[in-house]
This record gives sequence, C-alpha cells and structure tokens, in this order.
Amino acid sequence: MTSHPPVIELTERLASVTPKKFNNVFLTNSGSEANDTVIRMARRYWALQDRPDKNVIISRTNAYHGSTFGAASLGGMAVMHECGIPIPGIVHVQQPYWYREGGELTAAEFGIQAARSLEQKIDELGVENVAAFIAEPIQGAGGVIVPPQCYWTEISRICAHYGILFIADEVICGFGRTGSWFATDYFDLNPDFMVVAKGLSSGYLPIAGVVISDEVAAVLIESGGEFAHGFTYSGHPVACAVASENIRILSEERIVEHVATDTGPYFQQRLRELSDHPLVGEVRGVGLIAGIELVKDKATRTSFDANLGIGIKCRDFAARRGLIMRAVEDSMVLSPPLVITRAQIDDVISIARDALDDTLKSLAA
Ligand SMILES: *Cc1c(COP(=O)(O)O)cnc(C)c1O
Repeated sequence: MTSHPPVIELTERLASVTPKKFNNVFLTNSGSEANDTVIRMARRYWALQDRPDKNVIISRTNAYHGSTFGAASLGGMAVMHECGIPIPGIVHVQQPYWYREGGELTAAEFGIQAARSLEQKIDELGVENVAAFIAEPIQGAGGVIVPPQCYWTEISRICAHYGILFIADEVICGFGRTGSWFATDYFDLNPDFMVVAKGLSSGYLPIAGVVISDEVAAVLIESGGEFAHGFTYSGHPVACAVASENIRILSEERIVEHVATDTGPYFQQRLRELSDHPLVGEVRGVGLIAGIELVKDKATRTSFDANLGIGIKCRDFAARRGLIMRAVEDSMVLSPPLVITRAQIDDVISIARDALDDTLKSLAA
C-alpha cells in the first residue's frame, strides 16, 4: 500500500464535505473516466455477491455522462449513440423534462410519471437483472432540466423498494453549484455512489472521482480481492493539491453558503424577470445554474424549427456582447463562477436581455 500527502489531505477534505456515509473515493482524471469506473464498480458489487446477472444499468434519455465508450453509453443523447454505443446492458427511461414532454400534466404529475418509467423498466427487465440507476440530479448538458422534488422522492422510493444501486452524477451539481455542497443534499437523495469532477478543482486541473458509500465500499473492498482497474494519473499529487486547496477555499470563505443565501437566490430571481420576453418560454434553475428556453409560441410551448438555429444565434449575440451563454438546442444555459457578485449578475441579466432582443430582431428581419 502506497500513498502521498496531497492525496491523503484531499480525501480527508472530501470526506468532510460529502454526506456522512461517504468516506471512500476512487480518483480519476475526468468525469467520463469516473462514469466508466462506476459501471464496473456497480456490476462488480453484485458479481462479488454471486449475482453476476444483475448487471443492467438504467439511465435516462437526454442524459449526459461523458464521452468515453461507457460514459457515452450511459448518456441518453441520440447524437452520441453510434459506432457500437450504447454498449450492451445499458437502457434508458424517460427524462423528467416537464416543459417539453409534460403535455397537459402538472409538473408534479409529470414528475411522478417520469419516475415510474424507472419502475416499469425494472419490472420489464426483472429486478434480478438490474444493477443500478444513474442520473444527474439536474441535467446540465441536456438543457438544465430541474425535476420537481416529487420526482426524486419517487425515484428514491423505487431504488430502495427494489434494492438497486443509485448513482448520482454530481459532476455539474457538486461543490456548491446549487447552493448545497451536493445536489444529493439539496434534493435529499440517498445515492450509493456520487460521481464528481468539474467543481472538485473548480476546473483548474483535471481531476474527478467516484465517491463510494461505506456499505458499498465494504463489499467492494472486503469481499473483493484485487479490482483490476486504474489510471496512471489517478490521484496525481499536483491535481490533488489543487483540488484540496479548492475545497479549503470553498469551505473557509463560505462560498457555498454565499451561493445558497445570497447570489443564488438573487440570480434566480433576476433571471425570472426575463420570462416576460416574447422569446422566453421557461426560465429554470437552482443556485448558480440556469436555463432559458426559447420558443416560437409561449402559450402552446411550441419550439422553433431546429433549422433556424435560434439558440446558436442567441449564443453568438450574447458572446459578441461579452457573455458566455451556451445553447442546448434552443435552451440558453448559464453556469457562472461561484464567486460572481450581485453587480456582475446584473450585467449578465442585462446582456442576456439584449441578446434576446437581438435574436428577436434577427427573426423579424
Ligand atoms: C461534464 C460531465 C461529465 C463528463 O466529464 P468530463 O470531465 O468532461 O469527462 C459527466 N457527467 C456530467 C453530468 C457532466 O456534466
């Protein structure tokens, strides 16, 4: 057994900010590698208990879990499903995208329906064949889709009832993005694994990991023998030192609390002022992550023809004015630095409104 001081310091710091039952982490260099790793761990967890057939992982349409073979298979984006992706043993159920797919249902009714698509899939496959369910607490790359709380309550019930593992992909939500350390805290989830990356080092160096609950770690470690898995640069001392310092600063400068009580609510409140704009169908988000969905007809939630590339136009108008606002189809997504100030939020809102006006004018022309 070997180790080094930066990785010891990082893992101790990490355990101090994750929910209590998480005291083990497998470090990787990217979120994609971490998701590839968690596929192996979830299947291995059952195989070690003489259940090798319990290996299917259920994910959701329009999910994003990374770009390597395994991670892209977990992902539910049709454009990424090519050349043998998804790999066998990964299936997808309905995403909780109320604005697009909710029809006449209320958000709460639709949330329950979307969650039950997991239950139906488990019944269809046979629970004896299902290893785990994986989900982003808030779909980021999919357009910042925030499910109603009842969705997560129902998902938790289903995972517990069937005794399948629950993997929370916290790559975007983790480390304060929602105003809680993890979306697991924000939505009161009870995962067995948390996949972390991006915010772990605030993006300054490449580092990621699979955080493992004590109960699952006990099976993987104690009944395990060797897990023949690893990356040359896992736990690289420089990346660990930077991630560790990042967590120290987030904690000591109370940045997560500041997002929760001050800038997060202010950002969300000011963004919702954009709802009156003729192009804006829905504004959604939590803390410092948000999506603004542009539509042709607000009353019927009808989208623009994809060929018009409205989202891309709006993105380019925003960039020209100095604001990075990505387009996911026609949803404009924002994820500002956690240290953004109120004055900077005011600038974001005013440039976003100008970019929306530019887009509207270009449509009229
Ligand atoms: C970015 C992302 C990943 C992939 O992380 P990489 O470091 O880019 O490989 C995985 N899951 C989610 C939710 C992400 O947003």
